Amino acid sequence: MGKKKKKTYKVWCFYCEREFEDEKILIQHQKAKHFKCHVCHKKLSSAGGMLIHVLQVHKESVSKIPNAKPEREALTDLEIYGMEGIPADILAAHDGDGYDGKHTGLLHVIMGLWVSLKPNIIMYIMFVLGITLFNAG
Ligand SMILES: [Zn+2]
Ligand SMILES: [Zn+2]
Repeated sequence: MGKKKKKTYKVWCFYCEREFEDEKILIQHQKAKHFKCHVCHKKLSSAGGMLIHVLQVHKESVSKIPNAKPEREALTDLEIYGMEGIPADILAAHDGDGYDGKHTGLLHVIMGLWVSLKPNIIMYIMFVLGITLFNAG
């Protein structure tokens, strides 16, 4: 304790949870590790694109995303590209110092509380916030 955590804007890979400094590097990683055809090693732009490529070009069906964590490897119907397309609940469940590009201001505060506090406390805060806004308007 006492050490201030430096604010970083790290991005992370949905499939293997590795963190990267930059979304461009993340996308390169995803293409190289998760969107690559296992037959001809062509890099596709999404998992879905890779599955279609393997099916159409090599007549093989792929049901798992390569190099992904076991709980993520079957999520082939999600169109993930960098930090785009990650379901909100998974994004929120990822630890607090993750991607910060889109969650600014009040929304960011709520997202932060959501991660660190219990949902019933959030419900209470939302309720109080609702009353405040109602009275103000
Ligand atoms: Zn990855
Ligand atoms: Zn191929």
